[in-house]
Amino acid sequence: MTSIPFPATDTNPGTDNGFYEPLDAETEPHPAVSLSPGSWLAVLGGGQLGTMFCRAAQRLGYRVAAIDPHPDAPIAAVADMLWTAPYQDAETLQALSELAQAATVEFENVPYTALVHLATHMPLRPAADSIAIAQSRIQEKTFFARHGLPVGHFVVLHDSSDFSSPMPQYLFPGILKTARLGYDGKGQCAVAAPDQVADAFQKLGNVTCVLEQKLNLAREISVLIARDTHGNITLWPVAENIHRNGILDVTLVPARISESIAQNACEYARRVVENMGYRGVLCIEFFIDAEDNIYLNEMAPRPHNSGHHTIESCVTSQFEQQARITAGLPLGDPAQKTPAVMINLLGDLWFLDGDTPREPDWNALLAGSNAHLHLYGKKEARRNRKMGHITCCAETLDDALQTAQRLRKALRLPELDNLHP
Ligand code: ADP
Ligand code: MG
Repeated sequence: MTSIPFPATDTNPGTDNGFYEPLDAETEPHPAVSLSPGSWLAVLGGGQLGTMFCRAAQRLGYRVAAIDPHPDAPIAAVADMLWTAPYQDAETLQALSELAQAATVEFENVPYTALVHLATHMPLRPAADSIAIAQSRIQEKTFFARHGLPVGHFVVLHDSSDFSSPMPQYLFPGILKTARLGYDGKGQCAVAAPDQVADAFQKLGNVTCVLEQKLNLAREISVLIARDTHGNITLWPVAENIHRNGILDVTLVPARISESIAQNACEYARRVVENMGYRGVLCIEFFIDAEDNIYLNEMAPRPHNSGHHTIESCVTSQFEQQARITAGLPLGDPAQKTPAVMINLLGDLWFLDGDTPREPDWNALLAGSNAHLHLYGKKEARRNRKMGHITCCAETLDDALQTAQRLRKALRLPELDNLHP
């Protein structure tokens, strides 16, 4: 486990030059009250995650106001109020502050200034400081390492002077990743040897990066955890994730891992939320290598794609839990009712027959199946864009996998066995 320290001179979360620790770990400037039904909850971001949050919050009787910069944001179909504006827009933030009684985010890349502005007017869950850590791979890896949690070898590269001197051989083959704004495998570049780093750095836009050792992965798992304002914690069963081209393809729950690995991962997740004084739903992605070593990869301060199955397979979904925490309600029961397999539906499905998008045959998919189809209502299908997902629930994980295999065949997706490491 290695992390290369960098000068702790600047605690502005917009940069990666300093360690950033939550400032208000256990205190919140707003009283922890339960909001009555009919109150307004704000969500920053109106993609599929914001939309699913919105539905869950409305089911509990709340009204939802959203900000999203995109005119076609899926949440437009369901939000009680939507501003199409940049997140930092002062007038919009002011209007939202006057309307809503509590706020949350659908994703971590909301500008810090907007988060702080909202947090002065209402409870923001998770807190701006927690979100700031998850905005940067450097901040989150450093946070994990500083709290004694295992992370893979990595170095931070700010500019070319950082890779002019020889780099440790154990980092290669490696993966260069932009420190900020990467998702779904974007902002990453494989580097087989030290002499490829300069090119890769340039390809990624000459921005601050981390260079990680490429691990020999046996499994990828994620832990979804929720912590409320009183410090109560709930955990959903550990999920096993299969990625294709750096994007989540399939999630199986419960993960096919030993009890001890599951326990360790959950214990690490607890330590993260407790040390952050976290309030909200958090997902931590883990790598497991061939020797059963476990490493924390990254975290998302919000519901996560690998937790979509919770809508049907668990007593309380990740989105309902987010709504409960935001509204100051008690946490719901995370127990899993049935094993589940979730399949992501990417825009590529619309392009199986060429460059002109064609709607997949949903009837063939749905006929006689016990699967739950979710389409996010995005106006335009694009390759690698998340358009929807399917959750297959069954009495056993094997049965759910069988349904998933059948549906993948109907969709002309590769069989699962070929994908598993
Ligand atoms: P993103 O923010 O795009 O999800 P990740 O760091 O999670 O970025 O990388 C996406 C995927 O790429 C991972 O789920 C994993 O399959 C693969 N990957 C990333 N980093 C490593 C690594 N150090 N070793 C092996 N595989 C990796
Ligand atoms: Mg990831």
